[in-house]
Amino acid sequence: DAKRSGRGRSVVYASSLGAASRRMHTIEQALREGLAHGQFELHFQPKVDARSLRALGVEALMRWEHPVLGSISPGEFIPAAERCGLIRELGALALEHACLAARELPRLSVAVNVSPLQLMEPGFVKSVERMLVSTGVGPSLLHLEVTESLMMEDAQAAFKRLHALRELGVHVALDDFGTGFSSLAYLRAFPFHTLKIDRSFVRSLTEHSDARAIVNTIVQMAGVLGMRTVAEGVETERELAIIRSIRCHEVQGYLVARPMSLPKLKDWLAGRPITGPIDDVDSRITP
Ligand code: C2E
Ligand code: MG
Ligand code: MG
Ligand code: MG
Repeated sequence: DAKRSGRGRSVVYASSLGAASRRMHTIEQALREGLAHGQFELHFQPKVDARSLRALGVEALMRWEHPVLGSISPGEFIPAAERCGLIRELGALALEHACLAARELPRLSVAVNVSPLQLMEPGFVKSVERMLVSTGVGPSLLHLEVTESLMMEDAQAAFKRLHALRELGVHVALDDFGTGFSSLAYLRAFPFHTLKIDRSFVRSLTEHSDARAIVNTIVQMAGVLGMRTVAEGVETERELAIIRSIRCHEVQGYLVARPMSLPKLKDWLAGRPITGPIDDVDSRITP
């Protein structure tokens, strides 16, 4: 009996493994076609000042609507594109469309997620520079988001790349802070402008008393190192209140707005009193 049920389980296991690898193959095939047929589109999610809720910038997030497979999440197709060598093409598309969008969003920064493979490609910095020149976007309005996995392979080489980007005037942000190794040594060594605190940390703020102390420490430490902080995935007023109390600079999340198409974003922005960087004394609210 045990033998039979054991065999049954292994059959189920083998067939689901088969399904997973078939899905992977399907996605990789579809990626090629999707790129050729313009199925990819960027959506944009606002980032706002935590106190005034003034919009400061947007994060560009790739969306894929396949005619047969339906909508496929970046959590699935980005790793697939990395595996089958299409991440550079997809990344170049994101960069181009983000810069074109930046031209239509005066004063707002546009952040693009960059895969480690894309960042470490030999011509990457040049391609960013070319894109800025050809679109006329001010370098400081382009923000590039990288994750800690970047540092795992060759930290020295990654460090050089980030420096070269900073020299262009582009802003670099460390994304999903708190999910990887989150080494303090990296934060001291790498020239990040911004630290994005992962939404898993934000979620835990209202549940665990120690989480607040940890996030508070991260924000303080970022401040000492001259970095801005962004809280990702803020969904409730309670989370926002805590984020404000620990003086995190910026907020991004469903509470403020979901990612949306460029036309929808423009409508959303038009309905808000003020947007753009906070550079006037009036809006500098002292705690
Ligand atoms: P990310 O860069 O950390 O982006 C934030 C993710 O959190 C997005 O998921 C966004 O829709 C989601 N999010 C924002 N606010 C909330 C919230 O309040 N609650 C919840 N539950 N989620 C929220 P998305 O769009 O599915 O993207 C997932 C990841 O895929 C991104 O994480 C990024 O790592 C990657 N990605 C997306 N677009 C690109 C791209 O163009 N290039 C590369 N290399 N990676 C991309
Ligand atoms: Mg990101
Ligand atoms: Mg993130
Ligand atoms: Mg993420």
